[in-house]
Amino acid sequence: ATSFAGRRVALFGLGGSGLVTALSLKEGGADVTAWDDNPDQVAKAMDKGIVTADLREIDWSGIDTLVLSPGVPLTHPKPHWTVELAEAANAEIIGDVEIFVRERAVTAPGSPLIAITGTNGKSTTTALIAHIISASGRDAQLGGNIGTPVLQLEAPAKDRFHVVECSSYQIDLAPSLGPTAGLLLNLTPDHLDRHGSMEHYAEIKERLVARSEVAIVAVDDGWTQAISERLGRIGVTVVQVSKEGVLDDGFFAQGSVIRQAVRGNATDFADLADIPTLRGRHNAQNAAAAIAACRVVGLSDDEIRAGLKSFPGLKHRMQPIARRDNVTFVNDSKATNAEAAAPALSSYENIYWIAGGLPKQGGIDALEPLFPRIAKAYLIGEAASAFASVFGAHGEFEISGTLANAVAHAARDAGQSSGNAGASPVVLLSPACASFDQFRNFEVRGDAFVAEVAKLEGIEMLVET
Ligand code: ADP
Repeated sequence: ATSFAGRRVALFGLGGSGLVTALSLKEGGADVTAWDDNPDQVAKAMDKGIVTADLREIDWSGIDTLVLSPGVPLTHPKPHWTVELAEAANAEIIGDVEIFVRERAVTAPGSPLIAITGTNGKSTTTALIAHIISASGRDAQLGGNIGTPVLQLEAPAKDRFHVVECSSYQIDLAPSLGPTAGLLLNLTPDHLDRHGSMEHYAEIKERLVARSEVAIVAVDDGWTQAISERLGRIGVTVVQVSKEGVLDDGFFAQGSVIRQAVRGNATDFADLADIPTLRGRHNAQNAAAAIAACRVVGLSDDEIRAGLKSFPGLKHRMQPIARRDNVTFVNDSKATNAEAAAPALSSYENIYWIAGGLPKQGGIDALEPLFPRIAKAYLIGEAASAFASVFGAHGEFEISGTLANAVAHAARDAGQSSGNAGASPVVLLSPACASFDQFRNFEVRGDAFVAEVAKLEGIEMLVET
């Protein structure tokens, strides 16, 4: 990034995106001084030739910019110490997305940029949009909060589509972010521990769509509805989408069909019924938003439909991974709490549910309305007995202990149920728990599930192992 050439920049946070940012600034001719609380990260940066120093001990007089990694608190619960130093020095505080968009403004102004935010569904929608664009034969660059840091992507160019997932932190630190299409999916209380109030959290998310050339807003909750109305009043072009309500204009779902409305006239756009990776109401929201975004950046309806159909899904998020007879195996390892497990449990019936791990506050009480969809539960990890005492009052369960046992038993039972009338059985790993008692993280847990399923006799894998 050359927009900081010749300037003195302080940078705090040398994790994945921080180190990439430091290197990018340095290559672009900035004089960067970086620091991290973790000495290992500092050592790694020094190995790459980055100048490091405790930012408490340097002279801030010539420094006009502090670059922060996402998640370093700006205000809540209190400002990080670097924020106080930067404010005292009158330095601007920004993040890597800001550096990216300033670079774009100089080298490829107006190049297609799609930015996605919301409480839930960001990664799915970002991946879906990038997939539709690449499937149409165009160059899509996917990154931001998901996967590759923005400054590690190919640089902006006229025919290159950047699809960037933005957390609230990244929006807060990117005052010049004005994408071609900005998406706001939904707003529910989350991360309030780090943002203070819901009002403040919503206000940050609103900034992204308010500065977009076209704002795409899913109007399925009160917060996003209010934002959509406000944007309309100040003259922002808004495309509304909805997973449940009929709209006069925009894209909305009726059952599994996404319909397009123009001044009160609705026509069918695409049917998600036969797309296993886009099951569930929440995915109707993600798909409707993705369709609207691809339209804004100039894809044809047929290109969008083709891309939807071939979407491979995101790993560990309601991902169909295998089939045997009419039993589907679904990896939803990302569901690390009850709220996150709810979409999967709502999207299937006749569920052989593998759950448990390291329990989180609140347990699974909130899932009780969904218990009738569960044929049997296979409980693993430390949470098994606590889950058994809640679930046991409603349905059949076993304490499987390990994931291997759970997979073997669930596959056996689901196979026997497959002759019954009704919904096809689904063996679902949606743990509603953290993984750390048995696995390093949810990805390792999901991969272990795939490996166990792959061992089953007669199994047809839908993913690589
Ligand atoms: P994020 O990137 O915002 O964390 P993901 O796309 O990774 O979201 O999805 C995480 C989980 O959130 C999914 O497994 C699903 O259970 C749920 N989810 C996905 N999309 C939505 C949505 N639009 N509304 C509510 N929940 C969703």
